[in-house]
Amino acid sequence: MKIQFWGAAREVTGSKHLLKVNGKQILLDCGMFQGHRKDADEKNRHLGFDPKELDAVILSHAHIDHCGDLPVLVKNGFKGPIYSTFATRDLCNYMLMDSAYIQEKDMEYMLKRTSRKKQREKPMEPLYTVDDAKETLTHFYGVGYEKAFVVTEGVACSFYDAGHILGSSLIHMIIYEKDKDRRFTLAFTGDLGRKNLPILRDPQPLPPSDYLISECTYGNRFHNTITEVDKELEAVINRTAKRGGKILIPAFALERTQEIVYHLNLLAKQKRIPDLPVFVDSPLAANVTEVFVNHPECYDKATFDEFINNRKNPFGFGRLQYTHDVNESKALNELKGPAIIISASGMCENGRILHHLKNNIENPRNTIMIVGYMAKDTLGRSILERHPIVKIFNEPHKLKAEVVIMDAFSGHADRSDLIDYISHVKDVKKIFLVHGEEDQGMQFAGFLGENGYKNVEMPSRGQEVEIPE
Ligand SMILES: [Zn+2]
Repeated sequence: MKIQFWGAAREVTGSKHLLKVNGKQILLDCGMFQGHRKDADEKNRHLGFDPKELDAVILSHAHIDHCGDLPVLVKNGFKGPIYSTFATRDLCNYMLMDSAYIQEKDMEYMLKRTSRKKQREKPMEPLYTVDDAKETLTHFYGVGYEKAFVVTEGVACSFYDAGHILGSSLIHMIIYEKDKDRRFTLAFTGDLGRKNLPILRDPQPLPPSDYLISECTYGNRFHNTITEVDKELEAVINRTAKRGGKILIPAFALERTQEIVYHLNLLAKQKRIPDLPVFVDSPLAANVTEVFVNHPECYDKATFDEFINNRKNPFGFGRLQYTHDVNESKALNELKGPAIIISASGMCENGRILHHLKNNIENPRNTIMIVGYMAKDTLGRSILERHPIVKIFNEPHKLKAEVVIMDAFSGHADRSDLIDYISHVKDVKKIFLVHGEEDQGMQFAGFLGENGYKNVEMPSRGQEVEIPE
């Protein structure tokens, strides 16, 4: 069997791993590359393999860097099934349609800025359209956790809860290679979550796995524990409200937004924060929250009990409003006094958060709260690194607002979570590290070596490996 790593190889976006076994091809994830525009666009358009040759896709979860290039497959002739959990399938309905809409809008914007002559010389089209995304949704097959299914001849697969976002899964495969008459197991972590995250169950243990493709986003970092989130959030909100400022939270519409709402709900209930208006200014977040409400089977016990016993929606409270149309969103610009605004996109690359940043970033009363991963070359990363001048809509703005980094929110395992998780997987003969910037991965490989894992590799994009060796 061969594995070819086509994305999230020595970087964190574009997750795509191609398996070739028994004359068939299976793709694990089909994520979008994000970051430096030209480079990412090139890699999203030229996947490195032929979608027509693919037999099936297995999808770990609904984050765009794991599912966002699925419509590129379908647009280029992929006809097979896309297997995922039920919640991932339902989330992808919104995530992929939203992504297609952004692609179309982006292209309109680019065309306006490009001369007719240049357009004739080099025709431009969006990466994919809303129609491509719609077509992609018809390929999905939902499968429950821990239910084995046959992907292609000789390959059986099961999903285990990864505890990273709603519906996220670890993918475990039992593989029988016909011509070599050998059987082995392969697991892929997708994105590995952490224990005690709100709403979600803890990551489930994997069955014995000979080969492990593991993420390493924070392979050399340690997070604050999640129990400190409420305390930190409380302090920041009180401090900012006291000076009459607004709290802007760029957050992924999927998961992080619902987690923040969940924490704000708790703090408000316990009267630990002032009674401020809270706005979730993202139509996608509002839709995604509906999917959360419809999948209580993915909740941890505390959230499930609250939802089922009290019939209370854990994602709605007092002064919380989900804004749907543009006028409601624009009205927030005129808003006076302290407020909390949660808006997408998470890395500040596009979406309504850009307008809120433009209006609020130069006022030192305000706070920008960083609650998620910021990839290289994104506006979010420049804010996180506190560059004195940042560009928003191509205009320079002074960064005067307070910047608070709350990495306790991270949905990714840190170094100690990763090693703890991996050490409980039996029979591991080799580990492939993916989904991490090079320095994080290399440091983590060294750390794994110190802990007895001698056979660790961090493949680069396009590299092909043979297993068993
Ligand atoms: Zn993820």
